[in-house]
Parts: sequence; structure tokens; C-alpha cells
Amino acid sequence: MADALIIVDVQYDFCEGGALGVDGGTRAAEDISEHVTGYGYDYVVATQDWHIEPGGHFSDTPDFVDSWPVHCVAGEPGSALHSGLDPIRGRLDGIFRKGEYTAGYSGFEGRLAPGNGRDDGGAAGAAGEGAMPHLADWLGERGVTEVRIVGIATDYCVRATALDAVRAGLRTAVVPHLTAAVHPEKLADVLSELRTAGVEIHAG
Ligand SMILES: [Zn+2]
Repeated sequence: MADALIIVDVQYDFCEGGALGVDGGTRAAEDISEHVTGYGYDYVVATQDWHIEPGGHFSDTPDFVDSWPVHCVAGEPGSALHSGLDPIRGRLDGIFRKGEYTAGYSGFEGRLAPGNGRDDGGAAGAAGEGAMPHLADWLGERGVTEVRIVGIATDYCVRATALDAVRAGLRTAVVPHLTAAVHPEKLADVLSELRTAGVEIHAG
């Protein structure tokens, strides 16, 4: 049995000043680094929204529910992990990318990045895309039975990742104070939905 922290989409475009900046994103990034430093997780992984041609996920007239301004274009500066995570960059055991050709809210749609995300040009996938493991398989191979989920945005990709983690049979918790929400006024409803689905809500 092992546990893992899943850091969802803590990327420049989702932090203040980014294409789809969420208030509190930078604070979440810094707090996540401090949390990881003081906590003995067996594994720590991060996800990246990583768009090449995601169809209707991008829009010139976004509704901010199902369509969004252009963000996290693969290999562009906005898709990089925020510098708030720099203190734990060497602690990341895997980086999983999702959303290349469709909307991808859940980290469980992600596959391990070639070179563990160090070749941010995105073109060097020598092993071929099909060879890279999905997040659930990667966790399973390492005996992970318990995950905690943090990151951006609480009400979109954190929510979707947590629901998929429960579906994958993992004991799952979200730590709200290490997340940032697009719609903070709906946070209570989101946490209630997660609890009902079997997700634990942890204070820290
Ligand atoms: Zn996206």
C-alpha cells in the first residue's frame, strides 16, 4: 500500500496573469510546495492541461462553463508548471498530460509525459504516444491505494480528477485550502457533491 499526492494543473495560464487565471492560483502553488516538503508522500505527481487542437474546448466567445479562451497550448510558456512549484520540481515522480485533442478535465485522462516533462518542446515522444502509461495504471503499478488531490481549479479539473479517482477504486481526498476555484461561490456545492461521491475533504 502506498499513497500519492496528485497536483492538478498548477500552470501559468491558470494562475494570476495567465490566459485563464484563477484568483488564488499562485498562493495555491506556493502552499502546495510547502505542504509537500513537510509531508511524507510515497509519490508526488503533477498533471498538465496540454492542448494541441482541443476543438470546442477553445472559443473566441467562451461561456466559461464548456468553452474557454485559448490556454495551456502545448509547449507554450502558459502551459509550464508555475514557478511556485519550483521547490518541489525534483520531487515530482511523474508528470501526466491531458487534453491534446479534446477537453480533458480529469488527470486520469492524462498519460505520462516523455522524459517526465523535462522536454517541454513536446515533440520528442520517441516511445510513441501509445506507450506512455495512463495515470491510473502508473499508480496501480506502484501499489498506490490512496490519493490526495490539490491544485487548480477546484470546481473543474480537481473535481473531475477526484471523481475519477473514486471510480478507480482509490481512497480519495481533496484538500480545499491547497486548491483555487473558478467560481468560489459554488465551492460549497462542489465539496458537497464530492463528499456524496465518496471523496474525503481534508483540512490539510
Ligand atoms: Zn483546457
